[in-house]
Amino acid sequence: MIELIKGFKDILPEGISLWQRIETEAKTIFDDFGYREIRLPILEKAELFARSIGDTTDIVEKEMYSFEDGKRGLVTLRPEATASVVRSYIQQRMYAADPIQKLFTIGPMFRKERPQKGRYRQFYQIDAEVFGIASPYMDAQMIFMLMTLFSRLKVAGLSVLLNSLGCPACRPAFKEALLSMIEAKKEALCENCSRRLLKNPLRVLDCKVPTCREAVKEAPAITDYLCKGCDDHFSAVKEMLSGLGVGYEIDKGLVRGLDYYTRTIFEIQTSALGAQNAVAGGGRYDGLVELLGGPSQPAIGFAIGFDRLCDIMAQYEKPSQKPLQVFFITEGAEAGKQGANWVSRLNQAGVTAEMDYGERSVKSLMKRADKLDAAFVVIADGEGLEKGQVILRNMKTKEQSSISTTGITEQLQSIIVNQRS
Ligand SMILES: [Zn+2]
Ligand SMILES: [Zn+2]
Repeated sequence: MIELIKGFKDILPEGISLWQRIETEAKTIFDDFGYREIRLPILEKAELFARSIGDTTDIVEKEMYSFEDGKRGLVTLRPEATASVVRSYIQQRMYAADPIQKLFTIGPMFRKERPQKGRYRQFYQIDAEVFGIASPYMDAQMIFMLMTLFSRLKVAGLSVLLNSLGCPACRPAFKEALLSMIEAKKEALCENCSRRLLKNPLRVLDCKVPTCREAVKEAPAITDYLCKGCDDHFSAVKEMLSGLGVGYEIDKGLVRGLDYYTRTIFEIQTSALGAQNAVAGGGRYDGLVELLGGPSQPAIGFAIGFDRLCDIMAQYEKPSQKPLQVFFITEGAEAGKQGANWVSRLNQAGVTAEMDYGERSVKSLMKRADKLDAAFVVIADGEGLEKGQVILRNMKTKEQSSISTTGITEQLQSIIVNQRS
């Protein structure tokens, strides 16, 4: 047997209704908030991610699936969606038609992370990006929209973590303060952090290694270093969130692991799986469009961890499937042929119907109908068919009656409709 690759998973039919329900709910909300769907390739040039996510991040340093593709050079299975959406916004000149674009996309991402429970190397994200709006009200509205989605999906124990990463004008002063504070504790840092320290000291705030966490405990808060513009922006985000009734917590340790963020960053956590887990995260990236060769346009976006959301909802949402309305039990070749015809006609009319396709006893087929939870069973045998009759059994009331084979599919349809109402 050839097994799937470790860190990957199958999404089986039994679980798919949950995925579809989340997608439907997300699409409804995106529609209402004015976002349009975009579908992009899974494979992009490696350079796109190195330049956008940052080449001193964990993702680019060690987690990307990249390979040489002849003349095209190094290509990568996308580790996240934002870079591709920005690439498309620039390349397709969306900004020329209208700089304001609100887009969403849903699909798989790939990262070579160490496989562990709830973490996959092919994982799914719901991703949304807004271009052309610098206003802090968009930041707050985006968080509000996310919270609305999670509340419709009944996700419990939600909290919003908020921070600002400032801008190129004010971040250097913070970096310096952070650096001089950490340098004293340089010995305690992990290998990754010491290597990246000079180039990107903010990475240390993001590191999960306990000694690094300890070393940055007394780190200064970036919010104390914000310039007037960034400070006003952050205040407006907080004010609007309060106005919308969204509670939040300022987390000075939140940096979100990617280089492109500016100003507002946020993470939505839930305690629904026991420990605190992030279920969505995002932030503003006002410099990225220009950095990737486009016009100077502000932008903000987020990603929802689809897999984790499914794990959470699986705790209280039952998988659902359209119930089976009719099961046909046929005896003899002629009845089998008729049955197959009727099942096909009923399926075409939107009625779920199944039949036996083999030689089995009526008794064992009744058991199968029970197992499939059929609402009705039709028993057709050669003798009955000669008289133009079949037996209809209501599986709930156990009532049986004879019905004519003339117009049988129409009769069954109306019986099923009447039974529903
Ligand atoms: Zn600033
Ligand atoms: Zn570290």
